[in-house]
Amino acid sequence: MNQQAQLDALANEIRDTHVCPELEATATQLVMGAGDPNADIVCIGEAPGKNEDEQGKPFVGAAGKFLDEMLAAAGMVREQIYITNIVKYRPPNNRDPLPEEKAAFWPYLMRQLEIIQPKVVLTLGRHSGAAFIPELHISRDHGHARTVRYHDSEFLVIPLYHPAAALYNGGMRQTLIDDFMRVPASIEQHSKG
Ligand code: URA
Repeated sequence: MNQQAQLDALANEIRDTHVCPELEATATQLVMGAGDPNADIVCIGEAPGKNEDEQGKPFVGAAGKFLDEMLAAAGMVREQIYITNIVKYRPPNNRDPLPEEKAAFWPYLMRQLEIIQPKVVLTLGRHSGAAFIPELHISRDHGHARTVRYHDSEFLVIPLYHPAAALYNGGMRQTLIDDFMRVPASIEQHSKG
């Protein structure tokens, strides 16, 4: 089975086993992820918002537009990477996902990463970052790569601010762009060991 088929099978499993039935009941659809299933870079946000819920794709609203700009600044387009969220159904009224919702989706996110086998995981925002790095202080740690172990897997994780933060705080915009532009060099450095 190719990687996209494996991701599709995983999405069907999430639907069939009714992961987070309360969220499933209020959401329009599952937002599994989008992009290259063989990508070197996976971006992980928190949960779908209104636009994502309607379109079935991650980061298609205002934060997604800014994500595209950051990718462009780093010489990339979204089709080259894979984008997903920890929680794959929209929480009602865009509330923060609950700890038990993040925990319920975590094993599926890990299986997604095992299928894609990226070189680096970019976490977008405090919530996604803290899921990989519990002691994360985003203001101190943003942009700094570190290796995270989970069971038999090892990921290079770079915690970044959430692109939505830049929509409310102009100063953060440049910080995010700068962090993004350093991603290719971080991957290079770590692949040399
Ligand atoms: N914010 C997120 O964390 N994820 C999305 O898909 C959209 C906005």
